[in-house]
Amino acid sequence: MACECERRDGLHVFEDLFLVEVVRHGAPVADGELGRILVTDLGNHAMPLIRYDIGDAGRLVRERCPCGRTSARLFVEGRVQDVIVTGDGGIVTNDQIMDFIYARGDVDEFQLTERTPGRFELLVVPAPGAVTSSRVDHDVLALLGPGATVKRFDVRSIEPESSGKFRFVRSATFDRFG
Ligand SMILES: [Zn+2]
Repeated sequence: MACECERRDGLHVFEDLFLVEVVRHGAPVADGELGRILVTDLGNHAMPLIRYDIGDAGRLVRERCPCGRTSARLFVEGRVQDVIVTGDGGIVTNDQIMDFIYARGDVDEFQLTERTPGRFELLVVPAPGAVTSSRVDHDVLALLGPGATVKRFDVRSIEPESSGKFRFVRSATFDRFG
């Protein structure tokens, strides 16, 4: 329903084939704001799916792409069920947390689990040679909003879900995302 151009800055939506909307609590958000991605396939007459909720969070940007194309661009930022809503109403996505933690260079793998709203457990597989006293748990607090707490545990590996998939962020507050 969308693809990247040579600029690699978002996915150009095939707007003649799909209506893509980004909403929170059922209402469209402003251009560039994060919300739930809904898709209507304009060509599927056999089994129409209207405003199908694909379970991803993302943004839609309508300004012209540097490549010259004018179609809306979609930025997908992870699964809705991984979105953390902070105590002050802020939103943190799986992608933001991954970018933040992996930019440090001292973490090989991690899993951030919100046990109850604002109470997090952070499993960390330190990067080879990384100082184990790294303050990643302290630093990640800056993302998680006022009043949040993080307990960190250094581990040798991260276990997959029973489905076999790995999840890096598990949220207890995604239902507040709307
Ligand atoms: Zn482009």
